[in-house]
Amino acid sequence: MDEETNPPKPPVDLPDDIASVLQDATVHDLREGLIYAQEPLQHNHEPTEQIEPLPGEEIVEIKGEGKRFTVLKRQPCADNCPDCPHGPYVYEVTQEKQLNGETHFHWAFIGPYIVNE
Ligand SMILES: [Zn+2]
Repeated sequence: MDEETNPPKPPVDLPDDIASVLQDATVHDLREGLIYAQEPLQHNHEPTEQIEPLPGEEIVEIKGEGKRFTVLKRQPCADNCPDCPHGPYVYEVTQEKQLNGETHFHWAFIGPYIVNE
């Protein structure tokens, strides 16, 4: 049993150059890339005081209660893109208390929302 399985298809809105880099990447590089990709994502999601969409975004669903939520959100990629907003994408949103006593929501990107049909 050494037949090769077909590689998974990249998302249609992923630029071809990025998709081809990912398809050629080793497992090691993919893991490292995944970790690296978290950083700009986290950076783009500054702590907020409420679960609310940024301009151009659309919150589809908020699940959970207390201090942990799962949020499905559509979001834009760039100006003049006819397909915006994209998604939904899944975020884990956690309410955290800062040292000064204020609370904020911390957004962690999980991945694209996959519908089980
Ligand atoms: Zn777009």
